[in-house]
Amino acid sequence: MPADPATLLHDIFGFERFRGVQEQVVTRIIAGRNTLAIMPTGAGKSLCYQLPAMAMEGCCIVISPLIALMHDQLRSARALGIRAASLTSADADWRETQDRLVAGELDLLYVAPERASGAGFRSLLERARIGLFAIDEAHCVSEWGHDFRPDYRLLRPLLDSFADVPRLALTATADEHTRQDILVQLGIEAEGLVISGFDRPNIRYAIQPRDGLMRQIGAVMDAHPGPGIIYAQTRAATEKIAESLKGRGRPVLPYHAGLPPDVRAANQAAFIASEDMVMVATVAFGMGIDKPDVRFVVHAGLPKSIESYYQESGRAGRDGDPAVATLLWGAEDFVRARQRITEVDPERQKGERARIAALGALVETGACRRAVLLRHFGEDPPPTCGNCDNCLAPPPSVDATTTAQKLLSAVYRTGQSFGLGHIEAVLTGKPNDKIAQRGHDRLSVYGIVEGEETALLKPVARALMVRDALETNEHGGLQFGPAARAFLRGEEKIALVLPPARQRRGKRNGEA
Ligand code: ADP
Ligand code: ZN
Repeated sequence: MPADPATLLHDIFGFERFRGVQEQVVTRIIAGRNTLAIMPTGAGKSLCYQLPAMAMEGCCIVISPLIALMHDQLRSARALGIRAASLTSADADWRETQDRLVAGELDLLYVAPERASGAGFRSLLERARIGLFAIDEAHCVSEWGHDFRPDYRLLRPLLDSFADVPRLALTATADEHTRQDILVQLGIEAEGLVISGFDRPNIRYAIQPRDGLMRQIGAVMDAHPGPGIIYAQTRAATEKIAESLKGRGRPVLPYHAGLPPDVRAANQAAFIASEDMVMVATVAFGMGIDKPDVRFVVHAGLPKSIESYYQESGRAGRDGDPAVATLLWGAEDFVRARQRITEVDPERQKGERARIAALGALVETGACRRAVLLRHFGEDPPPTCGNCDNCLAPPPSVDATTTAQKLLSAVYRTGQSFGLGHIEAVLTGKPNDKIAQRGHDRLSVYGIVEGEETALLKPVARALMVRDALETNEHGGLQFGPAARAFLRGEEKIALVLPPARQRRGKRNGEA
């Protein structure tokens, strides 16, 4: 007779109590109810299937997308005394594993989705006793998710042919759309959705436009002597940033997939052991490492999605002590992200566009950053958190709709091919050779922006790019995006939140 969950929690896992929604999930599974558990990284997802696997008759089949991840989990399960195995191309003991499964000598069996969906695997399972299907990283089943894997779609027939076996889908990252899609794709009833709280109250969020990247990174480093991670978008950028941070009196190392494995392993080990190191890395760094005392995470460019941002920034402050997450973005990040959309499958483009729009809303908001993040994950947070840049120093906002219209008119009248510098010169009426040659000083938009409005031009251009009203061509020339006309017609408005650096500079100019 298997023991009750509380006893197993204590005896096998060595924990005194369940965390967050773990108890709810475990209870549902043991009662045989299909469940989709949305839990942030670090919330303790593995226990949600490992414990039922020990409490129930039969083996728990865990579907997991990455062999490396599987083998990590396998090791930690075995360390707890759980009888666990995997069937992957990296395993040599297939025969033995299959025999153990059929003989009822396995608690957990890890497989990849492409293996799980095959006919051979199904007939193997028919000869064994199965207690649970756990589908890890379940967002991979959805085209709406940021990491769609077609193999996940093939799981449904397997699950359906074991209709009495409960299914538990787990993911850290799913917006409302993706969530509904996972339920449908995996055949889980709507009542099976269990969502754990996503708030990380000890992380202070700050988001600023890039405006002197190295100075901005330096300010974060100076304010936080503890370990930190700086995420850069390319391998070259990690090396470059790491190089220019040397000489700040802190150990700094780069980390990316292009470094030799031994260098990577050494850099990672050095970071984990260090109390003041700064790691400049691509997003590959941090997955699966558990360093609780990371004091800051800086993004030097736009992350892929709100989900990735939440996950990557969430590597700060796992110990619960104060930590900061700073995102430094540029309008060109949005332009590039939109260009990349054209390279993905047409059926995925809608999801990609929604992801970029959600990021745009996050970086542009003058309201609470945490509220935007938590609402994205389906929560209903209070309007202010008291621990993000906007709550701590509410930014003044100005209505910049007419400035946006002037800027768009100037782009249009100059033929949608000039860069922002030229457009600014035309609008502010600064004569130069190019303007004279092209006759742009005779345009109706020449010199229509003056005084304080001049300072709005750059942020307005940035806001228009974020909102898909302006695009850049391959030469950096500005042209209309799909949303441009709505601004010209006055159907769309821009309330501009002035970034702190710009406010300061504006003041200094005013004093001079
Ligand atoms: P996830 O997969 O959700 O990122 P893990 O399953 O790897 O999270 O668990 C994260 C950490 O939390 C692990 O170190 C795990 O041992 C620990 N943990 C899980 N459940 C509990 C609990 N009930 N009490 C204390 N620690 C827990
Ligand atoms: Zn806030």
